[in-house]
Amino acid sequence: MHSLLHAAETSSAPSEADWLAVVVAAIAVIVAAVAGFYAKRSADAADKNVTAAERSASAAEVSAAIAKDSVSIAKDSAYASSVSANAAADLLRVELDRLHNEYEPKKNGEWLFVPHNRHPDHRWLQFRFKLDREYLVLATASATNDTVTTVCSVTPPGQPDDWWLVWVEDWSSDRDHSAWRELTLRFWPPQARVGRARPWNCVCGRQLDPGEGDTAAHWDFEVDVKPPESYDLMASLG
Ligand SMILES: [Zn+2]
Repeated sequence: MHSLLHAAETSSAPSEADWLAVVVAAIAVIVAAVAGFYAKRSADAADKNVTAAERSASAAEVSAAIAKDSVSIAKDSAYASSVSANAAADLLRVELDRLHNEYEPKKNGEWLFVPHNRHPDHRWLQFRFKLDREYLVLATASATNDTVTTVCSVTPPGQPDDWWLVWVEDWSSDRDHSAWRELTLRFWPPQARVGRARPWNCVCGRQLDPGEGDTAAHWDFEVDVKPPESYDLMASLG
């Protein structure tokens, strides 16, 4: 029995080479398992990353859409306020222009060129007119070629229904024609210092004061210089 056992032990005992093969195989299995485990884990992590990336991409899309909407809403409301601001400005402009037009000088009776004795022996060609409102008036006479002009002195009316007098030209010798072709009358709302006028304002935005006379007038008229041809008429008006 002993010998049999021994023989069996002897015959069944693995050789060193067999052990080595078993160990190598076991190590290979372990390595494969570990490798598999890590591969799985990185695959899972990659999945998670992909999902997270997908989620954050989708969140970014939503935010972008919201931002786009907000920009669009902001644009709409900016547009709406600019439209209403423009509409208000347009209405105001229309109203100011209407008031400006309402104040436009209107002829009150005839506008006449007459020779007039400014001094007892000094005759002048005078342009006289009446207005239904008080103004500040500047007058300029121009010659045919428009390059020669002169500023005419203007006498405001002493009473509300009196004549405005524009001293157009020295008419002391017996003359029947004027050196001037056109008279330009320029009107501003009156300032306190002008004659007896009570000041009032036009709100159109043009300057209220003519300054040195070169700012834009609120209104201007051009009148052809047409002295009366008949000295009888002149005598009757003089
Ligand atoms: Zn005006």
